[in-house]
Amino acid sequence: MSWLRALRSLTAPRAVRAELRRLRGEERAVRLRLGALARAERLRLRGLAAELVPLRERILALTARPRCCTRCAAPTPWGGEALPGGLCCSGTSEAIFNPVELAPLVLAGRAPSDHAVAPSRAGCLFRGAAGCLLPAGSRPSLCLGHLCRELAAELHGRGVIPELLELAEELAARGRAIGEALGLEP
Ligand code: SF4
Ligand code: SF4
Repeated sequence: MSWLRALRSLTAPRAVRAELRRLRGEERAVRLRLGALARAERLRLRGLAAELVPLRERILALTARPRCCTRCAAPTPWGGEALPGGLCCSGTSEAIFNPVELAPLVLAGRAPSDHAVAPSRAGCLFRGAAGCLLPAGSRPSLCLGHLCRELAAELHGRGVIPELLELAEELAARGRAIGEALGLEP
C-alpha cells in the first residue's frame, strides 16, 4: 500500500475505516485457507484465479461507460451522497465482497483493499464521484454481471448482451469453483 493510500485510509470516516478493516479481515481469511493447502493445489488455484482477470476485463470493456448509469445517481438508503453508480452501488460492501467473491481476486493478486477507497461513505467502499474506483481485474463478478432493466436496454442496443451473459455466467461459475476448493461459502 502506498503511503498516500495509507494516509487516506487513516483519515477516512470511522464507518469507512471499519468497513475497510472488515474487508482486509476477509481477504486475510482467504489467504489463510490457501496457506493450509498443499503447494501444488495452491499453484493450481492461483492459476485458475489468474485466468479470470482477462474475463473481467473483457466484461468491463463490453459494458464500458453506460449512459444510464450516469443518470442513475441515487443516494444511499441512509441519505448519503448521490453519485454515479446509482442504486446498484449504494448498498453496503459486505453483501458484495463475500468470501467467495474475494477468493479469486485475492488469489490473482487483485485484492480490492489494495486500491483506494472512496473518501466518504456513500454506499459501497469503492463508489467514487466518477463511478467505481476498482479496475476491472479487481471487481467482483456480482458487479460485472449486474444488469438492471435500463442497462440491459442500453447494452442490447450495442449488441453485446449474448457475449456478456455468457462471460458473466462463466466468471461466476469459475469463481464459485475456486471458493468451493477453499471450503468457502458466500
Ligand atoms: S446498472 Fe442500473 S441500477 Fe446500476 S447504476 Fe447503472 S442504471 Fe443504475
Ligand atoms: S465494487 Fe464498484 S461496481 Fe461494485 S458495488 Fe462497489 S462501486 Fe459499485
